[in-house]
Amino acid sequence: MSLTVLMNAGPWLSVPPPGYGGIENVIATLVPELRRLGVRVVLASVGSSTLPVDEQVSVFADGQFAALQRPYNQVCGIAQAHLAGVVRELHSRDDIDLVHDHVEAVGLATLAAMGPAGPPTLHTLHWDLAKHPALYGGLDGGDRVRVNGVSASQLARAPLALREHSVGHVHLSTPLAVDADRRPRPDKGEHLLILGRINPGKGQDVGARLAHRVGIPLVLAGPVGPYHRPADLAAAGDEARQNPDVRFFLDEVAPHVDGDLVRWVGTVAGQERDDLLASARASLFPLRWEEPGGTAVVESLALGTPVVATARGCLPELIEHGRTGLLTTDEEELDDLVLSAELLDPDECRRVAAQRFTPEVMAQRYVELYERVRQGATVS
Ligand code: UDP
Repeated sequence: MSLTVLMNAGPWLSVPPPGYGGIENVIATLVPELRRLGVRVVLASVGSSTLPVDEQVSVFADGQFAALQRPYNQVCGIAQAHLAGVVRELHSRDDIDLVHDHVEAVGLATLAAMGPAGPPTLHTLHWDLAKHPALYGGLDGGDRVRVNGVSASQLARAPLALREHSVGHVHLSTPLAVDADRRPRPDKGEHLLILGRINPGKGQDVGARLAHRVGIPLVLAGPVGPYHRPADLAAAGDEARQNPDVRFFLDEVAPHVDGDLVRWVGTVAGQERDDLLASARASLFPLRWEEPGGTAVVESLALGTPVVATARGCLPELIEHGRTGLLTTDEEELDDLVLSAELLDPDECRRVAAQRFTPEVMAQRYVELYERVRQGATVS
C-alpha cells in the first residue's frame, strides 16, 4: 500500500509517554500496526519521542506537559505555526496523502484553518464532547476535514458540527490483547482496582464508599492532578488545592482512604500496572461521566479482569453484560455486582479482548477510514 500519513501527536508528551498519557498511548499502539500494513508514517511530536517511524518532525525537544497549567496558549501557538509549516511543505511536494490528527487545539485548529488548500485530514476525537461544542465551533474545511470517534456513544453525543463531519468510530485497543492464550495469567487477589486519573467523572469516591460497605479491599491507582505519588501531593501543601482534581481527592476520596481497606498508590506503570490489574478480582468504573473511549476498560479485559461499571458512555459497547463484566444504570446496585464478579471467567475476558481490541483490528479500521477521508465521504 502506498500511503503516507502525517500523524500529529502534539507537543505535550513524548510517544510512547513516560507514564500516564492516553492519546500518546493510542498513537504508540496504532503506528507500528499501520507500518506493518505498509503505511508510511511521519510523526509530528516532540524530539524525545522514541517510537520507530519513517520520519519524525518536532518543534520542541521535549514534552511541554507542565505548560498545560499556564503558558498553554504560547505552546499551542508555537506548535500550530510549526505544524502549519510542515504540512504546507510536505503537502506541496505531494509527500503526504493524509494527516491523522489527535490534538484539537493544535492540529485540528491548524488544519481546519488551511481551508481547501490543505491535505485530507482525519481528526480523532478523544474527549467527551457534549459539553465542549465551542472547541469545535470553527470546524469547516469543506470535504477535507473529517472526524472519527472512539466510540459510537461519544459520536452520538457530539455537537452536530462534528457529527456532520464524521466517518465513524474506532474502539481503542491495547497491545496487551495480543497473545492472550500464551501469556500466563496470575492468580487472582482479593482486591478491586480503579485504574485512572482521580477525577469526579471516574467516581473514585463512589468506589471508596462501596469498598467500606462490602468490606473488600480497593486499590486506587492513578494521578491526582499533576501529582503522581502520595508523597508529592503531601509535600505540595495547600497550594495543591488550586487543582480541582486535588480538591475532589482531598474532600471526597481521602476521608475514605484508610491505607488498609482503601489505598491510593499513585500512578502505576509498566509491569506494576499490569500485575495490579491482572490480579484484581474486578476492575471498577463507578462512572459519573460519559466515558468516551475507556482504554483502561479494554486493558482490564486483555489481562483477564472482568469489569464492574455504571453503564455510561462507551461501557455498554465494550462490555458484554454477564460475559466480560457486569453493568448497571443504578449506582446502588454496584455493591451486588462487585460481589458477583468472581462468577465471570477471566479467560473469556482475554479471549474477547484478543478478538475485538487488538492493535491490528484498530489499524485495519483506521486504514478503511483513511480511504473514506480521501474520498471525502461521511457516514450518517
Ligand atoms: N494509566 C496508567 N497508570 C495509572 C493510571 C492510568 O498507566 O496509574 C493509563 C491506563 O492504563 C490507560 C490510560 O492511562 O492506558 C488512561 O486512559 P483511559 O482512556 O482509561 O482514561 P482517560 O484518562 O484518557 O480518561
